[in-house]
Amino acid sequence: MSELFPAVWKQITSSPRHLKCYEQAVAALDTDTCAFLELRTDLGVSLAEPAVKEYGSLSGIPFAVKDNIAVKGFQFSCGSQILAGLRSPYTATAVERLLHAGAVPIGKTNLDEFGMGSSNQNSACKPTVNPWDLSRVPGGSSGGSAAAVSAGYVPFALGSDTGGSVRQPAAFCGIFGFKPTYGTVSRYGLAAYASSLETIGFMTAQAEQLIPIFEAASGADGRDQTSLDCSDTTDLTEGIQTVAVLAGDLGLDAPVLRGYSKAIEAFRSLGWNIVEVKLPSLDYAVPSYYTIASAEASANLARYTGVRYGSRSREEHDHQHMVRRTRDEGFGKEVKLRILLGTYVLREGFQDQYYVQAQKIRTLIRNEFSKLFTKAGVLLLPTFPIQAFPIGDGGLTSMQQKLADRFTLPANLAGLPAVSFPTGIESGLPVGMQLMGPAMSDRSLIRLTAHVSRCFPEVALPRRFSPGEVTHG
Ligand code: GLN
Repeated sequence: MSELFPAVWKQITSSPRHLKCYEQAVAALDTDTCAFLELRTDLGVSLAEPAVKEYGSLSGIPFAVKDNIAVKGFQFSCGSQILAGLRSPYTATAVERLLHAGAVPIGKTNLDEFGMGSSNQNSACKPTVNPWDLSRVPGGSSGGSAAAVSAGYVPFALGSDTGGSVRQPAAFCGIFGFKPTYGTVSRYGLAAYASSLETIGFMTAQAEQLIPIFEAASGADGRDQTSLDCSDTTDLTEGIQTVAVLAGDLGLDAPVLRGYSKAIEAFRSLGWNIVEVKLPSLDYAVPSYYTIASAEASANLARYTGVRYGSRSREEHDHQHMVRRTRDEGFGKEVKLRILLGTYVLREGFQDQYYVQAQKIRTLIRNEFSKLFTKAGVLLLPTFPIQAFPIGDGGLTSMQQKLADRFTLPANLAGLPAVSFPTGIESGLPVGMQLMGPAMSDRSLIRLTAHVSRCFPEVALPRRFSPGEVTHG
């Protein structure tokens, strides 16, 4: 399958001289895009197992890893001040499996602190920008990974998707972003934000490339008890082919609405039946998600105390004071907001009002999807209601960003696989649409995405780096 990726990548990773040039070129180009927080090609190569590298399905292919996924020896900041200076002593299972397939991790990419956000503006490190337009956000929270693939620095990248963080930046950067069925990719080594919602996901420039990556990285893992094999052999293109689309006014910006119509037309031209559906429970996806995600975050982030790892406040009168000061100094505004919100909804006497209600909505959403997938093979919906928005004041407020997550959150609440794919360029910026399928239809969903994508002119990415420059230069 490695012919899916230009062979020149392997030439680069197998020559120390080329590797050095590659690293220098990317480092120079990335001074304004700021996709990477750390670039260490030498370290990545030394981690990749040479024997397997020769024969693995991803042999010699470099990749980037979001900085909330552990790679031994690399930094592990989660985009937060509280973990500044931390180096990971171990490697995440998904990365380890990619290493076995011969792939080479070359660096860690920027993110909204602990994955909380949709723009990368919540990173405590530096703001990544969109390679299509440097005055716009790359999306988030896996914005660094999306920018790195879109700019051509790496052929693929890992992100994490708790509520859309792989799919939304993929849509903003004109690439493919795949969120697998919950559990099919081990979360061991992914810094937990909201454990019941999140999964590691993958970003590429071509849909077909997702197959060998998912194949290599997925599967049950003894170190994550929620992990499982994706053994289903669903074929979404078999039988009566029906795609569901959302009825009514979805509140989309004109370019995204045009993209949605084009995608529906593409399915029609391929002979699929189109059924309009209403999914009333989706109106409650945003409050349900933010209640559950904040509740889980407040518990998961309790481990950052400055005692075992990460940064520690210099003000150390006593233990309690030290922990309080460390957390106050180390966490950013959005993270604090979510911890407070999470502890609030979990407070004794309040659980029934908020957390339990949110879980009930989650069940409704799940049931609505189960019903939907008896009538239709897949659901086609927008990834985000607008294109990449401007950085800073001209963009979206934190509240507006949360409301705009409404099309990506349902897949996480229901644990279903979903892919964002580019449908073209409007006013100089990419538009992305999303396909959701039943649980365990992952492989078939990727193949269907590849099939439908052929109806769209290939998006010419704003590649700033091309691997040939290194080997010919
Ligand atoms: N924007 C969502 C949030 O802030 C999703 C983030 C994610 O998927 N990590 O929670």
